[in-house]
Amino acid sequence: SLPAAATLQDRALHVLETVFGYSSFRGHQGEIVRHVASGGDALVLMPTGGGKSLCYQVPALLREGTGVVVSPLIALMQDQVDALAEVGVRAAFLNSTQSFDEALNIERRLRQGDLDLLYVAPERLMTPRCLELLEAARISLFAIDEAHCVSQWGHDFRPEYIKLSVLHERFPQVPRIALTATADQQTREEIIHRLQLEEAQQFVSSFDRPNIRYQIVEKANGRKQLLDFIKSEHPEDAGIVYCLSRKKVEETAEFLRGEGINALAYHAGMEYALRTANQARFLREDRIVMVATIAFGMGIDKPDVRFVCHLDLPKSVEGYYQETGRAGRDGQPADAWMAYGLQDVVQQRRMIDESEADETFKRVQGTKLDAMLSLCETLHCRRVRLLNYFGQEAGPCGNCDTCMTPPVSFDATVEVQKLLSTVYRVEQRFAPGHVIEVLRGIDGDRVKQWRHDQLSVFGVGSDRSEAEWRAILRQVIALGLLTVDAENYSALKLTEAARPVLRGEQNVQLRQYQKPAKPKRGSQRS
Ligand code: ADP
Ligand code: ZN
Repeated sequence: SLPAAATLQDRALHVLETVFGYSSFRGHQGEIVRHVASGGDALVLMPTGGGKSLCYQVPALLREGTGVVVSPLIALMQDQVDALAEVGVRAAFLNSTQSFDEALNIERRLRQGDLDLLYVAPERLMTPRCLELLEAARISLFAIDEAHCVSQWGHDFRPEYIKLSVLHERFPQVPRIALTATADQQTREEIIHRLQLEEAQQFVSSFDRPNIRYQIVEKANGRKQLLDFIKSEHPEDAGIVYCLSRKKVEETAEFLRGEGINALAYHAGMEYALRTANQARFLREDRIVMVATIAFGMGIDKPDVRFVCHLDLPKSVEGYYQETGRAGRDGQPADAWMAYGLQDVVQQRRMIDESEADETFKRVQGTKLDAMLSLCETLHCRRVRLLNYFGQEAGPCGNCDTCMTPPVSFDATVEVQKLLSTVYRVEQRFAPGHVIEVLRGIDGDRVKQWRHDQLSVFGVGSDRSEAEWRAILRQVIALGLLTVDAENYSALKLTEAARPVLRGEQNVQLRQYQKPAKPKRGSQRS
């Protein structure tokens, strides 16, 4: 063991090596450990897989008493505790899955000072019984994991998290460390404010995941494109495929299985036993493709996930980053692949409009969606966009689709004018499909019924295919020149921003349509 005069730094490294078996800290870990171990509060912003756990586990072992970890991930507590027990750390958890007797036993151990770490679900922690218990024990620190759950605007909002400011009031002398992988400015401010962490030192890590290759393709037949992607790029690998709905999860998993791919499904509507069995298989076996809703993955630590695919557009850049971040945690090359089309934009806008939430919430969701759309439509490096979103500067990466095959843009002013005029001529009462038929001069029953074949704009866009018009329309919606009216059968409506374009006062650059191509095997990967 160490001499009595060993510095905190020496003692921290000693714990890291002897307990966890690692030779050095990564990134800010060392600084964070020293700061918290010496009693300071900290706010840690570190991407998924960055190594947040050690930031509170090591200080908990360096300080006297028990470190209390607040985590919403009840399903993972057993695994975390088991992993710690394996390296000789005295850890336990308190949550609703335990019997009364088990809980009593843990409480006794806590009071006797027999625990290094105690994981607690927030709703449990907030009970008077639990708070009294903690007051009767010696607490070394509070770690608040997944701290973005205090944010009312995020998709992981947990009302109990807001009450966690009580910790500061009842245990003013105990250091607190809040950790999250969600780092946008708004969430960060909300965490500081709601958890009263104004005095905390902030540690912000780089969000770049250089080994992940980002790719966003035009959606034609998403499922088929997904299959081609998996077969040509990752036939032997483990991966995750995210879908928006439970139904689509089931259908996609079945489709992939039918094509000889070892696919499993995971969503919150599945029976608990089957869901956890699938998760366990994904973690233990090789080469499993997990088709899932976003219910899957929070806290999942599988280092060799080689690809993460999205068959539907995520609601926000934070979501996209967190989900794609589950790929390549081992640092080896990995892919983030997404198929995205007009229908995604229409669907997401509709979901926001039709939700029961108040206007402020809808506006925030709308802004988040806009940021996601501009990531999809960008003519520049995806990684630069992504990192800028998290407040980080960067240069073109050379490892994303737009860097490797720069998209060609063209002056689409005339096309956009044709599109906007058509929307205007059909009185802003028709959905995308109809508008495109009118543009292309397709005189189907509905077009004739409304006498839209008589309009001056009928057929002005006959020189372009339906797919091309869908791509143009998608970008025009992403640019905010048109909106989709959810309350009116997805009718397209002009916005204020459309005026200068219609008047010829403003030009529009769009991405040239590229026919979805089959991916080339091992293309350009060194
Ligand atoms: P996060 O909670 O930020 O997603 P984890 O704490 O689960 O990340 O750590 C991710 C992985 O990195 C784990 O497998 C962990 O053992 C490993 N890891 C963390 N810190 C180090 C380190 N200093 N040296 C080596 N491996 C590390
Ligand atoms: Zn790039």
